[in-house]
Amino acid sequence: MSRIDIVNVSAQFTGHLAVDNVSLTIDDGDFVVLLGPSGCGKTTLLRMIAGLLEPTDGRILIDGNDMTTTSSAQRNLAMVFQSYALYPHLTVAKNIEFPLATIRMPKQERRTRVEEVAATLGLQGLLDRRPKELSGGQRQRVAVGRALARRPGAYLMDEPLSNLDAKLRTATRTELSDLHQRLASTFIYVTHDQVEAMTMATKIAILNSGRIEQVGTPTQVYDRPASVFVAGFIGSPPMNLVDAQIESLDSRVTVSGDGITGWLFPGDTEPLDVTIGVRPEHLLPAPAGHTAFTDSGVRFEGRITRVENLGSHQLLHVHTGSATVTAAVDRMIPADRGDAIALTASADNIHLFDTATGRRLE
Ligand code: ATP
Repeated sequence: MSRIDIVNVSAQFTGHLAVDNVSLTIDDGDFVVLLGPSGCGKTTLLRMIAGLLEPTDGRILIDGNDMTTTSSAQRNLAMVFQSYALYPHLTVAKNIEFPLATIRMPKQERRTRVEEVAATLGLQGLLDRRPKELSGGQRQRVAVGRALARRPGAYLMDEPLSNLDAKLRTATRTELSDLHQRLASTFIYVTHDQVEAMTMATKIAILNSGRIEQVGTPTQVYDRPASVFVAGFIGSPPMNLVDAQIESLDSRVTVSGDGITGWLFPGDTEPLDVTIGVRPEHLLPAPAGHTAFTDSGVRFEGRITRVENLGSHQLLHVHTGSATVTAAVDRMIPADRGDAIALTASADNIHLFDTATGRRLE
């Protein structure tokens, strides 16, 4: 088990800051997912934790000890790569055993360890095969097995599921979550796939251009995104983000844009350009003939430009005149392209961001 503290860490490549002053605490037993779009610095950060790359600035502590310049071999961490990095000429058993041989573990002990790992991951029948005789999912499990055999303090994984097909990826996600619970060990996992992050993480760190935008549980980042970037990155279909203005009016706040009206929280708010965020599932069709809007919330009026039937529900794309929003609604609600429609969201379900900074208000 390991606690890892990343303190003001940066990584500079020639003329390019790939990781920019990142601080993050990873507690013992956490499953931390480093999530972000391609090129945001996830792999670079993981490589610095692993000891494969020295930070330009900052410190990395493992269990309170400064390991910033300690070699990878002495960090007691195991890494699983996207490519699996298996030795093609060695059998599965030898691949799993390899790191144990390099630390000169006695042969009998190595054999016992390989059997334990094979039992944990269901690899017993495959120990004599070579990597080319395995499916993608089996290779992935061997790569995890090789990490497991060393019983490291923490497991570092770089997009380990990206070579698997969709069905296998779903199954392997569950296996990795189960494994994390059984081992009660620290996992640090890099991905750009928000579903992997939401389903496996105890904590998600969302990165954008080398910086951390937000750290939180899956529920926290979904329910209270700290920035427009996080709001748009987490959730599928993504949160509707619409430019609007707040104008101080008595003790209330008016939000308006073309086809958008609303009353939001009371208080003395200065006039401000804002971005309103509403998740598709929180937009509800207003009852027919109902035009008055009295409760606090936001109302979007426009025409349906597209209807997508997803089986369990339907997506309505609605153009308001100034914006297009998507609502995820019950499939039984009659809706056709060209229909006029009003959609409302209650104040509880509205996220407000300062357009200038992109940060959440409140
Ligand atoms: P992906 O999801 O595509 O793997 P990532 O978030 O893991 O992306 P990194 O691989 O950490 O991103 O790269 C971050 C930035 O640093 C990118 O702009 C990349 O081009 C740059 N970079 C990474 N490694 C090097 C290197 N060795 N030399 C120069 N630039 C690099």
